Amino acid sequence: MPQKSKTARRKVKFFYSLKDIEENLCVKIPKDLYAVEKEYPVLVSEYYLNLINKNNIPDDPIWKQCIPDISELSDSTSDEDPQCEKKYISVPKLIHRYKDRALLLVTTRCTTQCRFCFRKRYWKQGTARQDISDNELKNAINYLKTHPEIKEVLLSGGDPLILSNSKLDYILNAVCSTGTIEVVRIASRVPVTNPARINDGFVKMLSKYDGVWVVTHFNHPNEVTHESMDACKKIISAGIPVLNQTVLLKGINDNPEVLEKLFRSLIKNKIKPHYLFHVDPVKGVKHFATGIEKGLEILRYFRKNLSSVATPHFSIDLPEGGGKVSLQASYSKDGISFESVDEKGIITYYPELK
Ligand SMILES: *Cc1c(COP(=O)(O)O)cnc(C)c1O
Ligand code: SF4
Repeated sequence: MPQKSKTARRKVKFFYSLKDIEENLCVKIPKDLYAVEKEYPVLVSEYYLNLINKNNIPDDPIWKQCIPDISELSDSTSDEDPQCEKKYISVPKLIHRYKDRALLLVTTRCTTQCRFCFRKRYWKQGTARQDISDNELKNAINYLKTHPEIKEVLLSGGDPLILSNSKLDYILNAVCSTGTIEVVRIASRVPVTNPARINDGFVKMLSKYDGVWVVTHFNHPNEVTHESMDACKKIISAGIPVLNQTVLLKGINDNPEVLEKLFRSLIKNKIKPHYLFHVDPVKGVKHFATGIEKGLEILRYFRKNLSSVATPHFSIDLPEGGGKVSLQASYSKDGISFESVDEKGIITYYPELK
């Protein structure tokens, strides 16, 4: 009789409603949150849900990232797409906003829905959850072929890693078949929310392609677990560089020590903190916004306390498709004198060299 394979994967479980979550976690969920779920549905992987420290509810940073908040409904911001992504859609699913790079939306699905998501418009109830179709991919590839100035494609969504290895292989193969794309950046939160998805088959498939980078999305030190680090290690061991982007979230990680701890653990594991984003002015996420000043204050703390390798760009995505700009804390008093970044904060003059 054939032996059942020991390596047979355990089925990954997901929770699609607050009721399910309430039963599983054995915690009381406030009744008014059920109204939020009707507008913006809930989806959490079992793995991510288990990272919640039940003694810390409702302040727990994992809880806050995946469980609805009543503020989602009382948000005065009305725009669902302030970056005007729709305007820059060149062909369906392809956003070409910068000359040398384009973003391909390969799915609208995710393994866990983050309450602060800036593409929340995709997952409102009633909106079909869909993957890119063969026809859409074909048209996107044709666009890339006729725009050889595009050298890099970002796979985004939704979360690209919700797709099967063979579907991702198919997409990567199509993108690389253009002959003009040198780099593919795959943005995914799956190493954080469902690390078991990073299986050998995935890594093997990915390593067939040159120029592939993975950008993951850790927001809090509590997300840095053995499982998530093992998932990233698998990718890195296959020679694929891993970057990280973080969203600055009020009441979750808007604290220099919390972010320092996160970024230190990431670089220790060879993951480069690349971006720290301020929350976009998108409907339903305003309660996560810290204000730009908070980010600059954190940057000033980092300059004194954290290696440049561990420090990400602090960026905002300008409304109306203005694009991403990185912000810097200022140390200059008048263009020639600068506050030193050591403990003493002494003002130093920079010599005239021209
Ligand atoms: C963020 C983004 C990119 C990538 O920009 P980088 O500055 O290289 O990170 C490309 N296209 C779109 C539409 C984007 O939003
Ligand atoms: S994984 Fe990314 S796209 Fe999906 S809900 Fe979270 S932030 Fe949004």
